[in-house]
Amino acid sequence: MKLKGKVAIITGASRGIGKGIARRYAREGAAVVLASRSQNLLMAIAQQIKEEGGEALALEVDVSQYASVAQMVEKTVEHFGQLNILVNNAGIAMVAPSEELSYAEWQRALDTDLSGVFYGCQCAARQMIRQGGGSIINITSVYGLVAAPGRAAYCASKAACNMLTKVLAIEWAKKNIRVNAIAPGYIRTELVQTLIDKGLLPVGAIEKRTPLGRIGEVEDILAIAVYLASDESSFMTGSVINIDGGWEAYGYI
Ligand code: NDP
Repeated sequence: MKLKGKVAIITGASRGIGKGIARRYAREGAAVVLASRSQNLLMAIAQQIKEEGGEALALEVDVSQYASVAQMVEKTVEHFGQLNILVNNAGIAMVAPSEELSYAEWQRALDTDLSGVFYGCQCAARQMIRQGGGSIINITSVYGLVAAPGRAAYCASKAACNMLTKVLAIEWAKKNIRVNAIAPGYIRTELVQTLIDKGLLPVGAIEKRTPLGRIGEVEDILAIAVYLASDESSFMTGSVINIDGGWEAYGYI
């Protein structure tokens, strides 16, 4: 029970990586706030967590809207009395040739993948400063470290989030708020599996390009997400940790 007594918000908890982190945090003893735009899905996950003996609250939140994010933190504190951990996981993939990407698509991707992360960090930090500290974890991407075609908005947002992680880490270190990022490679979430099933993601080529020879599973992210949230990582801040099977390190043919 590495997170006993702590309260954690996980954005994008309705499926995929966010859902996995929320369920694992609850098993580690944290009271979890599940945030996304799909209240019904969140309520079902919250119910499962409660049936397993955990504490959970489902909140309908749009991370691209500042007021919605501010309310998420307020409601968390109203309900659980404190906020110790924020995982900024909500994100959208935007794939289009750059010359065809519309202003609206560009803006939607940046509002969600970059501004949403800043809103979360700021609103959470204001509460954490009052409490004397906390841990923020941003789920970025290996595509914030290396470039992929047709993903200008996604790569630019994720790269900015890696830098945002470092800036906020050094600013808030004195306030005892740690800010770190996890940069996953391809992870088999529902979204990725659907793309594989439809033949839209070249899984064979991805596995070949990955030194460890496979696509990652949500499970691969969970131990590090617990570690960064827990007091065991109390000397870590401003770090971007790849969980990518060696994808970024690889530079050969
Ligand atoms: P999914 O598409 O499965 O889930 C994304 C989550 O984000 C959903 O819960 C969705 O909830 C939520 N979300 C999207 N937009 C908003 C919004 N405006 N407000 C609130 N919630 C929102 O993605 P993954 O689990 O695969 O990815 C999670 C994170 O990990 C993302 O940031 C992604 O970029 C990153 N990542 C994923 C990789 C992968 O291969 N899977 C690789 C590298 C990084 P809802 O629709 O209910 O609002």
